[in-house]
Amino acid sequence: TVKEASKEEYHSIISNKEKATGESTKHEFQAETRMLLDIVAKSLYSEKEVFIRELISNASDALEKFRYINVSGSEEAKSLQDVDRSLEIHISTDKQNRLLIIQDTGIGMTKEELTANLGVIAKSGSKAFIEQINSKEVSGDNNIIGQFGVGFYSAFMVADKLEVYSKSSKETQGYKWSSDGTGTYEIQPAEGVQYGTKIIIHLKNDCREFSDEETLKSIITKYSNFVGCPLFLNGKKA
Ligand code: ADP
Ligand code: MG
Repeated sequence: TVKEASKEEYHSIISNKEKATGESTKHEFQAETRMLLDIVAKSLYSEKEVFIRELISNASDALEKFRYINVSGSEEAKSLQDVDRSLEIHISTDKQNRLLIIQDTGIGMTKEELTANLGVIAKSGSKAFIEQINSKEVSGDNNIIGQFGVGFYSAFMVADKLEVYSKSSKETQGYKWSSDGTGTYEIQPAEGVQYGTKIIIHLKNDCREFSDEETLKSIITKYSNFVGCPLFLNGKKA
């Protein structure tokens, strides 16, 4: 059974308490990732909204991983923090600041996982995508991005900057990962990070529609039926 967040809990989930502290380290994206990001950022792909499907599906996977480990009774389960948390996804829009925020209370990522998962293409879909790009002369403006489902990186179709706050369910230290999607990303310890992952999307000017609640609502409706956990848009059940 899944608990629904009380209003109070919800506010603690969406509050902006995260603050990067300590030393920031700069990393370079793997060459293949850079290539992928370059294509994604330049894409004229008209169905840019698929990035929402990708981020919701990642959030849902993260919740599922947490749930799975939690009920496994394994050694790993014993290392989980805050096991009584509500498992949910919160999406919030901030039109004034042209932001879209997607937060989950799932498994989260350690510093090493942030580097391994968000800096390197491990994913088969993205590898196949790169191979396709290499083998043919394919530009980013046809449906190829949607077809392959390039995952997390698809957010760079609409973002000029991404900030990811994450705290692994097995640690007490949270981290901030950030990038403008060009060559590098930065990782910095952060305070006030909730267990799970919060992705703050700074929308490009021509993608500001994704900070509009009504627009988001109609997009989310397409996917929410497939998500096995409560999904909230600006605090309301979506
Ligand atoms: P895929 O979901 O197919 O593995 P993605 O590019 O969508 O590929 O994501 C890459 C990896 O980043 C995921 O496998 C996961 O390990 C990590 N990740 C992405 N989003 C989250 C999240 N919200 N919580 C925890 N881990 C995440
Ligand atoms: Mg994914």
